[in-house]
Amino acid sequence: MANKMSLLVPKTTKPRYSSLCSDDELLDDETHCYQSVSVQRGSWCDDFGSISGSQNSIYLPYTGHVSASLPREELDSTSVPVIKMGWLDKNPPQGSLIYQRRWVKLDAEYLRYFDTEKDVYSKRIIPTVSITGVVNVGDQKFEVVTHNRTFLFRAESDLDRNEWVAVLKSCVGVSRARTSLDLTFNPCVNYEMKGYLEMRGLRSKLYTVVCADKVYLYKNTEDYRLGIGITSIDMNVGNVKEMDRRGFDLTTPYRIFSFVADTDQLKDQWVEAMRDSIKEALSNYEVAERIWAEPSNQMCADCSAAKPEWAAINLAVVFCKRCAGEHRGLGPSVSKVRSLKMDKKVWTEDLIQLFLAVGNERANQFWAANVPPSEELTLNSSSDERRRFITAKYREGKYRRYHTLFGNQRELNNALCINVQSSDVCETLALVFCGADVSCDTGDPELTSPIALAQHHSQTLQVEFLTQNRHTEIPRSEVKVPIDTVHYMAPPSITHNGFLFKTGSMARPITEKKGKEEFSRRWCVLNDGNFSYYESDKNATPNGGLKMKEIVCLAVNPPETHGYDHTFELYSDSERLYLFGTDNPDAMREWVKSIAKSFIPSGAEHLLLKDFERIGRLRYKDRLNREMSRLGWFCLVGSGLHIRLEEDNSDETIDLQKLQELSIQPENEVLVLVERGRTLYIEGERKLDFQGWAAAIQRNAGSSGDTLSQQQLMDSDIPVIVDRCIQFITQYGLTSEGIYRKSGVNSKIAALLEELRRDARCVWLKEGEHQVDDVSNVLKRFFRDIAEGLFGAEAHAWLSATGVSDESSRICQYRLLFSDLPRVNQATLRALVNHLYCVQRFADLNQMNLHNLAIVFGPTLFQTDGKDYSAGRVIEDLIQHYVTIFHVNEQQLKKQLDEITYIIKLRDNLTPKAGTGSGDFICTVYLEEKKETAEQHVKIPAAMTSAELTFEILDRRKLSVREKDYWCCFEVNEKEETERPLHYQERVLPIFHSLGTDSHLLVKKHFSMEAMLVYLASKVEVSKHGMMKFREERSLLGLGLSSGSFNDRYFILTSTSLRLYKEVRSNRPEREWPVKCLKVYLGIKKKLRPPTCWGLTVVYESEKQEKQERQQWYLCCDTQTDMREWFATFMSIQNGGRVWPAEWLKSRSTSRSAPLDARFGNVSLIPLRGSENEMRNSVAAFTADPLALFRNV
Ligand SMILES: [Zn+2]
Repeated sequence: MANKMSLLVPKTTKPRYSSLCSDDELLDDETHCYQSVSVQRGSWCDDFGSISGSQNSIYLPYTGHVSASLPREELDSTSVPVIKMGWLDKNPPQGSLIYQRRWVKLDAEYLRYFDTEKDVYSKRIIPTVSITGVVNVGDQKFEVVTHNRTFLFRAESDLDRNEWVAVLKSCVGVSRARTSLDLTFNPCVNYEMKGYLEMRGLRSKLYTVVCADKVYLYKNTEDYRLGIGITSIDMNVGNVKEMDRRGFDLTTPYRIFSFVADTDQLKDQWVEAMRDSIKEALSNYEVAERIWAEPSNQMCADCSAAKPEWAAINLAVVFCKRCAGEHRGLGPSVSKVRSLKMDKKVWTEDLIQLFLAVGNERANQFWAANVPPSEELTLNSSSDERRRFITAKYREGKYRRYHTLFGNQRELNNALCINVQSSDVCETLALVFCGADVSCDTGDPELTSPIALAQHHSQTLQVEFLTQNRHTEIPRSEVKVPIDTVHYMAPPSITHNGFLFKTGSMARPITEKKGKEEFSRRWCVLNDGNFSYYESDKNATPNGGLKMKEIVCLAVNPPETHGYDHTFELYSDSERLYLFGTDNPDAMREWVKSIAKSFIPSGAEHLLLKDFERIGRLRYKDRLNREMSRLGWFCLVGSGLHIRLEEDNSDETIDLQKLQELSIQPENEVLVLVERGRTLYIEGERKLDFQGWAAAIQRNAGSSGDTLSQQQLMDSDIPVIVDRCIQFITQYGLTSEGIYRKSGVNSKIAALLEELRRDARCVWLKEGEHQVDDVSNVLKRFFRDIAEGLFGAEAHAWLSATGVSDESSRICQYRLLFSDLPRVNQATLRALVNHLYCVQRFADLNQMNLHNLAIVFGPTLFQTDGKDYSAGRVIEDLIQHYVTIFHVNEQQLKKQLDEITYIIKLRDNLTPKAGTGSGDFICTVYLEEKKETAEQHVKIPAAMTSAELTFEILDRRKLSVREKDYWCCFEVNEKEETERPLHYQERVLPIFHSLGTDSHLLVKKHFSMEAMLVYLASKVEVSKHGMMKFREERSLLGLGLSSGSFNDRYFILTSTSLRLYKEVRSNRPEREWPVKCLKVYLGIKKKLRPPTCWGLTVVYESEKQEKQERQQWYLCCDTQTDMREWFATFMSIQNGGRVWPAEWLKSRSTSRSAPLDARFGNVSLIPLRGSENEMRNSVAAFTADPLALFRNV
């Protein structure tokens, strides 16, 4: 320790310094380069002037940690929570045998060591991301291994050593998993300024980097590249003063750093960069300080760490950096993680207010209402523990406080619509995360969504919360059950007895009616989990029976299915079916209730309250969790399939009427239910009851009756059958003369209507196979036959409204009547009138003007004989005043009409060609990340550009685009290791066809675009030169094995060519390529071990036809900025300077209205999955994989 106190004069160390340049341990010795002095407590500021005034003054006083009280606290508030700290011995520098005692501190970002525990500025700072290994080496020692250096430490005991190794390992694991995705953890990214600066009193210059709110000091560029620095300086406590000519001081309460720049000009730049950094540091705290004004936000919502700096802006919780890593792991559809400090732009006033209104405490009253003490996190929890807890808490909703309306979708939605008009955001949070649909239908034609409702009532915080959660996945449990869980919990002893009629038990489903003569009267007793039947109530020995725990399903038949009015079926584990009957409805109800109660576990008891037709247990899987099937208790009530997961108290309901697809895979015995946004696979664990379930589900997924609301429905509540017909006519029938007036072929109409009624979901109308006049008549006949009619019970009121002569009061009357219609009728009427409105807009082509349509549809919709014109009058009014009566957004309507115009034009052009839309492909494109829920299937016409595709995807997801959001379509290759942002004018289809199996298209924000544009704007002439590391892909013996390594080369990129020079001074280039033949990708395959993470993969394809040449090689830059600049230069040159549309948002509207014949496959006009074949393929692709998994279980 003694040597630490010695004062070393810089001069004396000079030779030593140079000899140490290659030494890992330079920095420890550097201490001795600092002349040290103690700054007088509290007077460092005053001393400052005199210190800096003299040339040989004293800098970096190593004992300069001033009064610990005030500023330290301040500093702590800025730092990441420390995971572990303590004294360790560091191995001696070369040539020495003496271990150095160091105070070592580990947080999620860095491992640092200091001279003493009081020091603020480290001697060494090693980002955890750069640590590649932590190795136990005996004798209380361990090594921390980085890419090119190893640090050896010695603990005081093996125990202590083991602890260090364990925490380091867990920390390193986390940060590694993270960096591949997220470079913001790396300080080298996004720096403001960097370069060598002389530090007074120090012989060598230090490589200094100003980055966001910190300044980092490195020994040299090499260290900088590796991320291993001396120290970092938090600028929120900094102050910059200009000194003599090239000198300036960065003062902090703990130390003064006196720098000297190389030139006056550079000094100005440094001072400015550092002042900006201070400004940023201070303003960063504006958000954090405001959020922390709510006391519970001063502690991590998950582990209670102090001063959390991260937040999930959709969940309204604030958490620490370590927990933030796990939140990120959940994905943005569960937790949208933002920094309180760095992501300043997202922190609008409303969002801040939302965090104050909710706050960690109230949010946790919901999210963490039921946390078992054993699962709670502490400051010291490992990352595994954090991951488990945070996943359970937010993704699975395991600890949630269940809302009383939980499981009742309609009521939840209702409650949401009411609540968003109040200021109670916490209630909204509880509703939404218990399943209320953020975009549910409010039933209010003017304020159609909860967001609109909240807006209307000026509830800005509600609006903010709802907006943040528009795309949030609602918690769903994913807990895996071992296959052989015991699912039976001894029920409370239920006793019931009485006479029932039973048939013999069966091994196959009952398909025909059983007459009374096939039943025998039996005295039945349910007791202690046993069901026994006796010859009579006098008998003591049962004829037979079954154990309740063997029952897997109870099905209630519709009355009069068999000879006895009321019958029910019991299915046993051993594949037997028992049929019981009675003529007494009360007795029937009692039996069903008692039996169900005795085999349904208490956790699923609420299912018993429902008027079910079938209840029982089934195994199933879904997309989120395909590896292992889970056990659920299922209950079928009409078109609602209710599911209760046995192990984690969560309920789900599937509306069978609104399924997008439903299919059964007979050979696998799996029922596939495709709901919007997810897929459920119900397994046929046993044949017999599964067959019953499959039939019942299929039956209830079909139309259940003759009224509108009993039809299969689209998400929008329009019957599928109506939607199918309207879509077809819109595409193929708008130019057909006399559409809706001409009659089709009667037999075909009847057959098609019958087919659609049976299962509209499975019917895909196709040009060529179906005629427009047949389809138009199907639609008419459907409305003519629908029970209760489209206008419902109040049809006469509509008709009499035509008697009101004043037009505006008549319209008022219609609006009133419309608002009284049931939801499905409203949606259907709106869609139909919209369609008819469009039809008559093209009357010059189809001759169907307003009046003609009214004559046809009046009697059809009102189901009258047509002698009286008042029905036609209503339709005429509805179409004519469509915009007013239905509150139509005229811009959207115009867009729709424009699109129809394109379709018509396109069809005109296509007519001579065979087929329709030839050259279109249905492609899968992902939004933001590659996962199933982000999949979009898009029809891509040959002429579609990248910008058009991007807008199409954003439109579909209803994402609003801001000026500085650079949304872009990327070609992502090599298992996501390389990617290329497509140029906005680039055609997508050829790219799509060139993609390999490891590649896909992804629409996401281009985060470097702004920096690239700024860079390009600063250039007079677009060209670039500089060093890069170069590696060529070489084939050895034509085997495709690559060899070679990365070597420094000098490059010059001009408007025509890219030239490679062996070194800067070379006169002649070694190689030269025309720029237009190069395709540049961001990133390099990891397998090639690029020396930095800022690489480019370049593909050269020669233009010469006779000699098809393709080369691939790699370039590595030292910094991200450098890479960005090279890439920007390439893009600019290759696209004639047009890197981004000058008026990005305007380009969107022009791309829509420009007479591009390729706007064919746009938005809602074409069913998402296209033709039947395409759909089949997509379903096959969808299901093939998971089904294969089933077989292996
Ligand atoms: Zn935490």
